[in-house]
Order: sequence, then structure tokens, then C-alpha cells
Amino acid sequence: MENRYCKNCQERTKHREKLDATQSGYQVCNECNSMNYDSNWKLVRLQDGLTKYSSKIIWMEWDENGKAVQTHEEPKKGYSLIMDPLIYGPGSYHWQTTTITDISENSDEVIKFKTMNSNYELWRI
Ligand SMILES: [Zn+2]
Repeated sequence: MENRYCKNCQERTKHREKLDATQSGYQVCNECNSMNYDSNWKLVRLQDGLTKYSSKIIWMEWDENGKAVQTHEEPKKGYSLIMDPLIYGPGSYHWQTTTITDISENSDEVIKFKTMNSNYELWRI
């Protein structure tokens, strides 16, 4: 058991291992029973401060009909950020942005990008 940050309680609480093998690495909060896991990425939406954590990210390329074409490891105009793909099963995700319209910074620390309606900073943590 380990004190880990709980996204629901907003504080460090005790967790227990999740027994479901398909979600190994995930831990369950003893206070609220929310599922938590190690976060590698922190996304901040600048206009309202909305913050999302994830362990994995992918960049999704779309065709003109909005169908998923291919995933990528690097961001590019026209791609969407998807945080924790498949977390709750096929087709699911923790957070998805609309498509990127501009990337102003892409370093080892942070990726700063714009979508149609938002400005985001994605920090490696
Ligand atoms: Zn909790």
C-alpha cells in the first residue's frame, strides 16, 4: 500500500492494487474507490486551468470524414491528443482534444499547442 495522489480526492490517500490483470499498474483509492495510476503527462488548458493527468498519450491522425487513420508518437497540425487510450476498454480514453491548429513549442519538457477552441500545455512529469 502506498500514498498516492488521488485525482478524485485531490490529495494523497492510501491505495490498493487493482486485481484486474488488464489494468495492472492501476491502483484503487481506499477513500473513494477511484482508479489511479502513475502519471507521466500533465495537460493544462490555459483559458480555464482544466488539468488532466495520464500515463500514456498518442497523437491521432484523422481523415476528412473524421475517421481515425493512424496513431503517431509526435504531434502535428491536424492531429488530436488522446490521453490514456483504451483505459476503460475499446474505443475509450481519458481525454481527447480537438485537432491541432498550431504547435508553438515541442521540447523534452513541454509541448505547447492550439486547437480550434483552446490553448494547451502538455508537460512531461
Ligand atoms: Zn480518492
